Amino acid sequence: MLQTRQRTEVLDALRGGEAFAAQELHDRLRARGSKTGLATVYRALRKLADEGAVDVIREDPVQARYRLCSPEHHHHLLCESCGKVTEIPQCDIEGWAKKVARKQGFVVRTHRAEILGLCATCSRR
Ligand SMILES: [Zn+2]
Ligand SMILES: [Zn+2]
Ligand SMILES: [Zn+2]
Repeated sequence: MLQTRQRTEVLDALRGGEAFAAQELHDRLRARGSKTGLATVYRALRKLADEGAVDVIREDPVQARYRLCSPEHHHHLLCESCGKVTEIPQCDIEGWAKKVARKQGFVVRTHRAEILGLCATCSRR
């Protein structure tokens, strides 16, 4: 089971916006005196990625890299082939979302949208 301390450690190490591979993140934690094992770092990263707190960036299909998902409202381009996540900071669908919701008497709090397909590298293959 993933402990809160290890989760916090991993999130802390990711702060600053850089992307890390699990191995690099593990090295970084060790340098700070942490005793968390590589397998745990892996598990923490996978879990955080599932929750959407961390984005997966995979320039290289075998070596996934992880980056803290930005706290501001944004959208994702998700490559279905390599799993690379690209953040799109601008949002052009707010107005549309509110309009379609209003027709149903629905009050919008927020919205999520992911665009699925192939990244530039994968679509060239
Ligand atoms: Zn994100
Ligand atoms: Zn791709
Ligand atoms: Zn949006």
